[in-house]
Amino acid sequence: MAKKLLIVIDGPAGAGKSTVARILAKKLGYRYLDTGATYRVVALKAEQEGITPEMTEELRRLCAEIEIKFEEAEQGQRVYCDGRDVTEAIRTPEISMLASKISQQRVVREAMTQLQRRVGGPGVVAEGRDMGTVVFPQADVKFYLDATPQERGRRRYRELLARGISADLSQVIEETIKRDQEDQNRKVAPLQMAQGAFYIDSTGMSPEEVVQKMLAEISKRGGNGAGDGGK
Ligand code: C5P
Repeated sequence: MAKKLLIVIDGPAGAGKSTVARILAKKLGYRYLDTGATYRVVALKAEQEGITPEMTEELRRLCAEIEIKFEEAEQGQRVYCDGRDVTEAIRTPEISMLASKISQQRVVREAMTQLQRRVGGPGVVAEGRDMGTVVFPQADVKFYLDATPQERGRRRYRELLARGISADLSQVIEETIKRDQEDQNRKVAPLQMAQGAFYIDSTGMSPEEVVQKMLAEISKRGGNGAGDGGK
């Protein structure tokens, strides 16, 4: 039986991290951890309670009280906030921007890092911005997934339309670039490539092609890259 690994994927918005992480987790028989969703849930609850990103004490209280849960369902993973299904509510462009702002706050990052460490470990594919650098520096395999801003914007745009959310392509590209800048330039846990990470530019590649590249790398590092359900 192959040893269960902790695999992390970092990269900018729209690089394909969640699509690829989901497929990879399924092939390996691992759990998938979407850490962006945890910041999105905090952003949604803050918005509903009228808490702005500067209200540090209120954010501290919110993070201490909030209950974030993931559940596997037939149609994919569902996200719950205090028992309420917020899977769709956290995916709007407004919540994307707010999550990026709120995730700059140290109190929020510390709380989410703790939560992510509780659920992450061997047998998990975790994706986000600071997985290989801060949350799981001990990860067995680290990937940094990238693509051009235009391609990433186009992917986000198609994702929004598929969810029935109307959007303007040039505005989505602009927001993607803005979010990258915020994620890369923040003081706490900025988006950067972890030491020892394997870089993949997914521009022009299908998710399946990216996953194959990852599986080849995973098997080189001692994991079961053959994709037979982690047996
Ligand atoms: O990955 P996703 O687009 O869902 O993430 C939403 C936002 O949450 C990002 O723009 C980023 O600011 C923040 N985030 C983060 N650290 C992570 C995952 C997401 O700061 N590990």
